[in-house]
Amino acid sequence: MESTWLKDSKKKEYPKLKGNIKTNILIVGGGIGGISLAYELSKVTSQKIVLVEQNLLYHATTGYTTGKLTAQHGYRYQIIIKTYGVNAAKLYYDGNMDAINTAKENIKQLHIDCDFLEVDHVLYASKDSEQLRKEREAYEKVGAKYVAKNTQDYQALVFPHQAVFHVVKYLDGLLDFLNKKPNVEIYENSRIVETKSGDTFEAIGDGFSITADKIIFASMYPMMRKFNFYFIRLKPVVSFVCAAKVKNSMNLSGINEEGNVFSFRPLSNNSMLFAGYSDDSSSFPDFKNVEKLKEKAKNAFEVEKFDASWLNQDFDSLDELPLIGKVEDNMYMMTGYNKWGLTTSILASKIISDLVMGQNSKYSNLFKVKRYKRLLKRIGYVLGNPITYIRSFLRGKSKKCTHLYCSLRKNNLDGTYECPCHGSRFKSDGTVIIGPAKKNLS
Ligand SMILES: Cc1cc2nc3c(=O)[nH]c(=O)nc-3n(C[C@H](O)[C@H](O)[C@H](O)COP(=O)(O)OP(=O)(O)OC[C@H]3O[C@@H](n4cnc5c(N)ncnc54)[C@H](O)[C@@H]3O)c2cc1C
Repeated sequence: MESTWLKDSKKKEYPKLKGNIKTNILIVGGGIGGISLAYELSKVTSQKIVLVEQNLLYHATTGYTTGKLTAQHGYRYQIIIKTYGVNAAKLYYDGNMDAINTAKENIKQLHIDCDFLEVDHVLYASKDSEQLRKEREAYEKVGAKYVAKNTQDYQALVFPHQAVFHVVKYLDGLLDFLNKKPNVEIYENSRIVETKSGDTFEAIGDGFSITADKIIFASMYPMMRKFNFYFIRLKPVVSFVCAAKVKNSMNLSGINEEGNVFSFRPLSNNSMLFAGYSDDSSSFPDFKNVEKLKEKAKNAFEVEKFDASWLNQDFDSLDELPLIGKVEDNMYMMTGYNKWGLTTSILASKIISDLVMGQNSKYSNLFKVKRYKRLLKRIGYVLGNPITYIRSFLRGKSKKCTHLYCSLRKNNLDGTYECPCHGSRFKSDGTVIIGPAKKNLS
């Protein structure tokens, strides 16, 4: 189903790549991460930048998001403090607040009309919530700017000066800028299926190859080499979204994570967007969850009419922090945003731009790709994977994923096919939406 955002897309059609080309910098993936990175780099270098997208720009995860820009990411600060310490959590907060300001700056400088609205973001829970108490303690340690509020039923922690925006209009604004840059080339419908490392990199697709001095994977699943094992570090998580006209719309966005996640934000025209009922892909989420989400929305707001609804999937990193940084000399990646990749991919684009240009970034150590925290969790996930594989077969004969042949489940909401084991997604015609799979379904 088409999301609220994609129907407003005004981007031009970009060509499909044919033949062999050379570039200084190659970006693989044209979601918010890849486009933001192309924008950051194009401001600081006249070197040639090529951005390749396997389908259409921003039509994968980014086009189906909720569109909140906030540094309040559920109960994340207590988790980061527990795993990485207070300084890491401080950096995470600073980085995400910086990202909101970067988006604001870009909108101002490029005069982008993208329904940007500054709103407070609230994390709320019932009065006796131990997790909310711990999150508040974490905010104190981090020095986060927040206000604590109580209502009759809930306690709430409010982050002021957060925002919501129209992600597609925002990216169209960045693309308008990139279209005028003579050193930037953008290609759509051009999938990289293999990369080879040597003195330079070779990225090979169907009927084309690109030789690049530097390569960055902003492809959600990092597509380097012919095959890699990042699927044991990235867990696919599915969430549902619906838009509705409501009587009591408010200029506030928020999230409740008691039981099923329930997230909301204002839209224009007395509408709100609701998201949540997230579930590990491996737990075979019920597509009827969207009905449960609608029920929850009706309990919280005076809903007049539901408009669009859809499903989206993001990759969680098993060790809680996104993976942003150097993989090997001149090769970088950015992913694992834990469903908060609008702010963190904007931050990632600044970090990677600095690294590509040979500068230091104060954030690079925090998100470095080679790290060994939470190894037991990763091992547990790997051991659980064959069980998911077997369960996928037991649930009936279906199409097989072209990655590791797991049985796909059909998504009744929009006709796509999804891999419960490693997160590959396919359109109803079999085209890959997101990897690890590289080959379309036959
Ligand atoms: C329901 C839901 C709601 C969300 N709401 C929010 C929110 O309110 N705020 C927030 O901060 N975050 C939110 N997120 C998370 C956020 O939307 C994502 O983290 C973010 O969009 C990821 O952007 P990306 O550019 O990394 O990935 P994508 O948008 O998936 O872009 C990657 C691109 O790479 C391309 N690609 C992949 N492989 C290849 C290849 N081999 N060759 C060429 N191209 C390739 C893909 O086609 C795709 O277009 C939400 C996530 C979900 C699931």
